[in-house]
Amino acid sequence: MAANQNPSSARHVVIAGASFAGLGAAYTLRKRLRPEDRVTVIAPNDSFVFAPSLVWAALGRSSAHSRFALEPALRRKNIEYVQSAVREVDVAGHTVRTDDDQVSYDKLIIATGGRPDTTAIPGLAGEFRAASWIVSENSAMEARNVLRKLFSEPGPLVIGAAQGASYISAAYELALALETALRREGLRDRVPITFVTAEPFLGHLGFGQTAARDRIQKLFSQRNIETRVAVAIEHVQAEEVKLSSCETLLANAIVIMPPFTGAVDIWKSAGLTDETGMVPVTSEYRHIEQPDIYAAGVASYFSQPVPPLGLAHAPHTGYLSLHMGKAAGQNAAASLDCGTPAPRPLPRTMDVRVLDGGRVGLLLTSRGDATLRHRAMVLPGVVAHRLKSAIERYLVWELRTGRVA
Ligand SMILES: Cc1cc2nc3c(=O)[nH]c(=O)nc-3n(C[C@H](O)[C@H](O)[C@H](O)COP(=O)(O)OP(=O)(O)OC[C@H]3O[C@@H](n4cnc5c(N)ncnc54)[C@H](O)[C@@H]3O)c2cc1C
Repeated sequence: MAANQNPSSARHVVIAGASFAGLGAAYTLRKRLRPEDRVTVIAPNDSFVFAPSLVWAALGRSSAHSRFALEPALRRKNIEYVQSAVREVDVAGHTVRTDDDQVSYDKLIIATGGRPDTTAIPGLAGEFRAASWIVSENSAMEARNVLRKLFSEPGPLVIGAAQGASYISAAYELALALETALRREGLRDRVPITFVTAEPFLGHLGFGQTAARDRIQKLFSQRNIETRVAVAIEHVQAEEVKLSSCETLLANAIVIMPPFTGAVDIWKSAGLTDETGMVPVTSEYRHIEQPDIYAAGVASYFSQPVPPLGLAHAPHTGYLSLHMGKAAGQNAAASLDCGTPAPRPLPRTMDVRVLDGGRVGLLLTSRGDATLRHRAMVLPGVVAHRLKSAIERYLVWELRTGRVA
C-alpha cells in the first residue's frame, strides 16, 4: 500500500525521525494500535546509528555493533518506512510533504532531534571553518582527521562545549580518552589540553548534574587538563578560540560541541515551535496547541517543568529520548482508544550514561520521584569500556528487534 492511501477504517500514525525517540514511539504504537491501523516512520537515513559510539569513531576505533538497517527491522514489525525527509507539514490538512510524496496522518509524532547551529558562533562553520565537532558520522570522521593530524603535528588542543551545546558529556569523554591516547603515544607533554565549557560548573551537563563536578575536576587536574568554565565562545578562527572572558586560546586542534537548534525550516514555518525550532509539548508529549501532534526526544521541550526534572528542557540523551518516544507513542495510541496513557512523563531513572575515557571512566546517574539525586562514580577504564559496549549492544538489539516496546 502506498504511504498516502488511508482506508477509512484504519487510522494512520506518522512518525518523523528514526532514532531513539522515533523508534521508541513506532514500536510502542505498533504494539498498542489495532492490526489494521498503520504506523509509518519517515526519515532520510537508511540506518540507525548509536550516536554515543561516535566518540569512538572520532578516536579511530570501530564499533561493529553500533548500527542496523532501518527498513528491514521496521518491516518485520509491520511498520512502514519511508526513507525521505519531511519538508513541510500542513497542520489543517493533516499531511506532511516528503521529498517525493504527500503523506496523510491522523496523528503525527515529531522526533526529528536537533541539529548543530554552527552559524551561531563566527568561524565555527563556513569556508574558513576552524573547529570540528562530533554530532553525526560525517562530523565524527572529520574530527578524526583533525585529531590524526594533531598526533602527527602535536600542539595545543582546545576541547569543550559551546553555549547552547547538546551532548556535552561527549566532550568530557573525548577529552579524557584523548589524554590517554596522547600519553600512550608519548605525546602528552607536547599537547597542552584546555577544556572550555559554557556550563556553570564542570559536569553540569545542561540539567544541573551536581555529583560529577568534583570527580571531573579531580580527574582533569590529575591529568593536567586545564579548564575554563562558565565562558562563552565568541569566535573561532585558524588556531585560536576567543572566549567571553577576553582570553584567546591558541590551538593546533579545536573540537567544540556546537550550539543546537531544532528543525526550524519544517516545524517552525508551520508555527509549531519556538524561535529555536524546538517543539513545546504538554506533560503528555502533545503539542501545546495541536491535539493531533506529539513530539518527543531532543526535538521537544515541556511547556512547564516536569518532575523529577523540575526543568522544561530534559537532558539530551538517547536513554531519555527513547523513554520520551515510548511515552509519546503510548499517549498517541490512547488518544485513538488503544490502551491507557503513560503513567508518568519521565522515568524515575532520568539519566544513565557511561563516559569511556581511556584509562578511566565515569558512570553518571540521576534518579528520583519528585526531585533528582545525582550520582557519579569513577570507574577503571576497562570497566567503563565494557559497560558502554554492553549498553550499546543491548540498546541496538532492543531497537532493531522492537523489544524496546
Ligand atoms: C557524540 C555523541 C555522544 C553521545 N553520548 C551519549 C551518551 O553517552 N548517552 C546518551 O544517552 N546519549 C548520548 N548522546 C545523545 C543521544 O545520541 C541523543 O540524545 C539522541 O540521539 C537523541 O535522539 P532523538 O531521537 O531525539 O534525535 P536524533 O538522534 O537526533 O534523531 C533524529 C532523527 O530525525 C531524523 N530527521 C532529521 N530531520 C528529518 C526530517 N526533516 N524528516 C524526517 N526525519 C528527520 C534523523 O535522520 C534521525 O533519524 C550522544 C550524542 C552524540 C552526538
